[in-house]
Amino acid sequence: MAEVLVLVEHADGEPKKVTGELLTLARSLGEPAAVFAGGAGTYAKAKAYLAEYGAAKVYVVESDDVADYVAAPVAEVLAKLVVDATPTAVLVAATSDSREVAARVAAKTDSGLIWDAVAVDADLTATQGVFGGSTIVHSKITKGTPVIVVRPNSTAPVAAPGSPAEVTVDIAISDAAKGAKIVDRVAEAKSGRPDLTEAQVVVSGGRGLGAAEHFALVEKLADTLGAAVGASRAATDAGWYPHQNQVGQTGKTVSPQLYIAVGISGAIQHRAGMQTSKTIVAINKDPEAPIFEFADYGLVGDLFNVVPQLTDEVEKR
Ligand code: FAD
Repeated sequence: MAEVLVLVEHADGEPKKVTGELLTLARSLGEPAAVFAGGAGTYAKAKAYLAEYGAAKVYVVESDDVADYVAAPVAEVLAKLVVDATPTAVLVAATSDSREVAARVAAKTDSGLIWDAVAVDADLTATQGVFGGSTIVHSKITKGTPVIVVRPNSTAPVAAPGSPAEVTVDIAISDAAKGAKIVDRVAEAKSGRPDLTEAQVVVSGGRGLGAAEHFALVEKLADTLGAAVGASRAATDAGWYPHQNQVGQTGKTVSPQLYIAVGISGAIQHRAGMQTSKTIVAINKDPEAPIFEFADYGLVGDLFNVVPQLTDEVEKR
């Protein structure tokens, strides 16, 4: 069976949940082969996880040349494997770093690229949102090795324990790939909430909240549901919530089981980042707000009444 390469998404060796999702998806498409590219000594932290999620093989590159520079060295590794291992497809998570890697790999290998897939069929037909998520299309790459960027939360990760073969990849990263060096890493302030892009439930607040301190309502509902907190750009631009929590075209892309939009109108640029959420609930006092056109459940009302009541009800259960 031909290999399907999965780029391992990790933080200093610790795999992210999306890696298990991609390996699960890869198992339905061919033989899953994980590609681990990280700094010296980091693979040990990923090894057990990759075995648990059914990688049949792991290509390992441990080098500070990979860890210390932005995107290009990882793209060099992946492009080399596309040539050497001739996989049927490459799966990459739709995160900011890996999106750049995917684009570079597609360009280097003269291959087609599919962006923001939420499903991939056995014949490599992908389902993706286009035009800011307003239209869902099914597409298939006809050129080169398909490079498919998959949204987190598109596939439920299912364990399939095994003992993958390990292959050390011998590669000298070119000087050209060392154009952007990472000089500092600043950890995001820990909120204790799940990562926004990986959360099963997201509660987002918009301009309807009216002030930064009213985000406490959103946070309380989120904490009751074990959810991550998102925000519209109007809210982040106003300085009411950090920019790293912005959902949308110029923010993060989320695809949770449940997305609750509080005081958000549903502009196309916001929709682009959350349209593929499985269930969308909108709370807005304007019955004509565009978000009601694509929400699964709409609550027309003043959020200052609705959200505390909703939080109380959830707390009772
Ligand atoms: P508004 O559109 O002002 O909506 C506020 C809503 O709150 C209204 O529908 C109102 O009825 C409701 N409301 C008010 N008070 C209450 C209340 N008491 N109870 C209940 N409801 C109430 N936006 C993003 O979100 N993410 C992006 O990534 C993004 N990228 C962009 C990129 C570009 C190039 C451009 C041009 C724009 C982008 N935008 C983005 C901005 C986008 O166009 C909208 O301006 C923004 O999404 C609006 O945010 P909002 O829904 O919070 O505010």
